[in-house]
Amino acid sequence: MSDNTVAVLDSVSRFLDRQHGLYIDGQWRASAAEGRLAVYNPANGQQIATTADANEHDVAQAVQSAHKAFSEGVWAQRLPVERERILLRFADLVEQHAEELAQLETLEQGKSINIARAFEVGSTLNWMRYTAGLATKITGQTLDVSIPMPPGAKYQVYTRKEPIGVVAGIVPWNFPLMIGMWKVMPALAAGCSIVIKPSETTPLTLLRIAELASEAGVPPGVFNVVTGRGTVCGKALTEHPLIAKVSFTGSTPVGRLLMRQSADTIKKVSLELGGNAPFIVFDDADIDAAVEGALIAKYRNAGQTCVCVNRFYVQRGVYPQFAEKFVARVAALQVGNGFEAGVQIGPLINRKARDKVLELLDDALSKGAQVLTGATPHALGGNFFTPTVLGNVQPGSLLLEEEIFGPVAPLVIFDDEAEAIRQANDTIYGLAAYFYTRDAARIWRVSERLEYGMVGINTGLISNEVAPFGGVKQS
Ligand code: NAD
Repeated sequence: MSDNTVAVLDSVSRFLDRQHGLYIDGQWRASAAEGRLAVYNPANGQQIATTADANEHDVAQAVQSAHKAFSEGVWAQRLPVERERILLRFADLVEQHAEELAQLETLEQGKSINIARAFEVGSTLNWMRYTAGLATKITGQTLDVSIPMPPGAKYQVYTRKEPIGVVAGIVPWNFPLMIGMWKVMPALAAGCSIVIKPSETTPLTLLRIAELASEAGVPPGVFNVVTGRGTVCGKALTEHPLIAKVSFTGSTPVGRLLMRQSADTIKKVSLELGGNAPFIVFDDADIDAAVEGALIAKYRNAGQTCVCVNRFYVQRGVYPQFAEKFVARVAALQVGNGFEAGVQIGPLINRKARDKVLELLDDALSKGAQVLTGATPHALGGNFFTPTVLGNVQPGSLLLEEEIFGPVAPLVIFDDEAEAIRQANDTIYGLAAYFYTRDAARIWRVSERLEYGMVGINTGLISNEVAPFGGVKQS
């Protein structure tokens, strides 16, 4: 083991042993609530840490500290170039701790260490640097206008963008660091203060970086982290009158609830919710490329990403070829603890997630689907699940309608383009869609007709810091 590896492991273990508090006003504070929340390693079910279980009183303290910092202008009134410089320094500090953060991600979320390094920490750094640069690119407009009296008089209207105030960021468990920073960085670049709440399942990386924000020069009160249950701590954030905006990423049912909770105090709400992504393979597609794209778009993070493929539609002429090649690759995927070399598929996040996948699978099989590979809990036991492909999946099967959030790929045959588009759009969701074709006219036609916020064409990877990330309909 190199000296560096020893230092990282030592640092991770010291961090896990801490009695984690809440990061408020630039310092650690104990929660007013006595209870603690346990954090588990999904690969072996062992408890790895505990965090505070913040209550309404704790949330009020964090929000007041953020509001005080905002009203006193300690951040919002700084020159944009200074905010940019501090945020870039924040990114540099996160990069210095990249390996430690990747290890924490694999420990608390289960994703393979390679995915944690590349997607969680690597992408986070790209996002941080891109959004830091936005601090100096906030513009208004000047417009020439006429008014009714006196006739012919011309005025200029001048618009400027101002920070909205205190933002609450509420984060899911699947990409906690990256999605957390999707909320923190734009808020800070704009001059807002933020109170961020990670998922109770995966709170560790956002807690780890709290001090780095202060070290980079973000003033006390501007960046706060509270940990706790959604129904207590998250709810209190959405109801607090001093929160001006809520930025939420999570499931559609919780998104609906959160809009209601935010209604009494008329907050602005940004929601990134669940998906039900279709992946269409047309008969003119490059089948080998489609198989590669399908693997990354379906099985990344064991099928637990919001833009993961939920349903495959394959044109009849290429179905046998696609199914054969895809099944061979899926059957060879390596399942195991994300820290082991070569592992591509880690465990599902918990027992409930595993049971939900089994339930969806049983429903599809009872309606006539055929197992092409997998379809069983993995021999490793616990939360591990065997990568699965099902053929002949019938309309009305629940896994074509609900988010699977697991390593199961249902294949459906279609005959013509109109039918594929109709089936792809037949859902309440509209986050991401993918299709493979070599026909240029079809590329334009189909991409416009898919009712999705993001469409991947001849690729299985679509998220990038320069492109907007979001959905339509109930996503
Ligand atoms: P979730 O909706 O259960 O929880 C998300 C967050 O909301 C957690 O921090 C939770 O504590 C909090 N919460 C729960 N109840 C709350 C309440 N009443 N008030 C305020 N906050 C509350 O989602 P999850 O299981 O953590 O994450 C998986 C879901 O997130 C999937 O549906 C996935 O598609 C979605 N997701 C969407 C995107 C996107 O960008 N569209 C990205 C990642 C994940």
